[in-house]
Amino acid sequence: MTDRKPFEIARETLKQLTVRKLPPTPANYQRIYSEMAGIPIEPTFPVDRLRDIAIALPTKTPGQQKQRGLLESAINNLNWNGVKSALMAYGGFSPPASSPSDATRPMVMTESKPAPGSPSLTADFFGQIARMIEYTQPALGNEDERFNSQTQTLILALRQPNADASNVKQMLVSYGNRLSFAAEDQVEVKNVLLRLLHLIIENISHLSLDDTWLKGQVDALMTVCAPPLTLRRLDDVELRLKDVIFKQTEAKERAHKAQEEMRHMLTAFIERLATMSTSTSVFHSQMEDSVKLIEQAKSLTEITPVLKNVVSATRDIAHESQLVRDELQSLKNKAQAADAELIRLHQELDRASAQARHDPLTGALNRQGLDEAINREISSFKRKETPLSVALLDIDNFKMLNDTIGHAAGDAALTHLAGVAREVMRPQDTLARYGGEEFVILLPDTVLEQGMEAMTRLQRELTKRFFLAGNEKVLITFSAGVAQVATDETGMEAVRRADKAMYLAKRAGKNRVFGA
Ligand code: GH3
Ligand code: MG
Ligand code: MG
Repeated sequence: MTDRKPFEIARETLKQLTVRKLPPTPANYQRIYSEMAGIPIEPTFPVDRLRDIAIALPTKTPGQQKQRGLLESAINNLNWNGVKSALMAYGGFSPPASSPSDATRPMVMTESKPAPGSPSLTADFFGQIARMIEYTQPALGNEDERFNSQTQTLILALRQPNADASNVKQMLVSYGNRLSFAAEDQVEVKNVLLRLLHLIIENISHLSLDDTWLKGQVDALMTVCAPPLTLRRLDDVELRLKDVIFKQTEAKERAHKAQEEMRHMLTAFIERLATMSTSTSVFHSQMEDSVKLIEQAKSLTEITPVLKNVVSATRDIAHESQLVRDELQSLKNKAQAADAELIRLHQELDRASAQARHDPLTGALNRQGLDEAINREISSFKRKETPLSVALLDIDNFKMLNDTIGHAAGDAALTHLAGVAREVMRPQDTLARYGGEEFVILLPDTVLEQGMEAMTRLQRELTKRFFLAGNEKVLITFSAGVAQVATDETGMEAVRRADKAMYLAKRAGKNRVFGA
């Protein structure tokens, strides 16, 4: 060390740079400065090399993108610890908290108490890593046997009472590499499954009969199973698919029944035709015989019995024809009745299926669907202990809107509101039609204030996106109440609180959001 003042060292450094004819780069300046100050020369930070490494790292997952970003910023800040942390996190495990000199200190396994702020690599710490790896394992599937056995070996090594830290580190690095590939595989598997699902749904729509409800459901399914795929969305896909399958099965049975009826009728008709043609051919030969007898007759007395026969045969054939006509008429009536019954069944099924879980007008969940969704959210809220809020909105002056622009346009306004709400909401939120012009929105992972903000955002969005009734721009506003579900509360109790708050919002002048 030297007792010279920093500005003197700086001046000397500049002088030396000139004397030694060195380019005045930060690295040269730092080296000469350290030399002049008598402090150990720190190895230069290999910015370019590290940048090369960073650029070579794949960024297929959001996690990889984030860690590569952190790595790049650590490189820019010449921060070794940042580089280390980012690389470890990129490998898939949390870096141990480090002290500034950590980068150069060898890893030591110790049972002694860690100093505050710098936990040492204790057996407990390794145990945590082992547990974390065990937790992530199911998400990565178990198809890759080599990866499975590598995971098991690593977990065993981590749980060794006197695990060798450098050995474990080596294993972690190699595990991290494979982990990133396994995670990429899982993303790919998910994407392929999604594509298959799309294919199946498309196929269902081609198989299906001419049915508008079914077509609507298939379109909704296509929208719902687009990424990002969350468990809630998959639940929705499942519910809708169940409805579609139920409807398909019913439709198939109905078609089958109709086909059977037609077959019966056709058989009966052909049998009748056959008897008709037999009796007419008998009639024809009787007529021919009678004509011959009449030609050969010499007196009227000879003709009389022949005529009698002709009259009787004619009466018989007329009777037979009448029978056939009556029978055919009855068959026709039966066919018409069956047809009408089929149409009635069809309409009934349409109503029943549509009423299953979705509101046919807006595509939002109906009351039944809402009940199921609330139960799902409540159990998830209790399991994860994350906040859950419910919002209830009621369109302002909707009766007047109906009176002004007509009921059909009123329907379209409801659909418009549901559409805007769906676009503004996050994928994990759920929209349900609670009543005529009332909607409930379930907002998971949301505290009261955030729920109220979400509703205000929806109000703002509606002022930007007018509803068009013909060429007329119609502004739809609503009043809303928001309640955060309490731990001991049922979902419907929270909805009722939100309803009360909504009522207060109406009383306060409408077009506002109140918290319960
Ligand atoms: P407020 O601001 O106090 O809510 O007034 P409002 O007129 O919206 O409320 P009110 O409950 O008096 O009227 C609701 C109206 O919504 C009455 C009904 O005709 C109409 N409505 C309910 N369901 C439907 C629907 O499916 N389509 C249409 N077009 N109108 C509906
Ligand atoms: Mg109302
Ligand atoms: Mg209203």
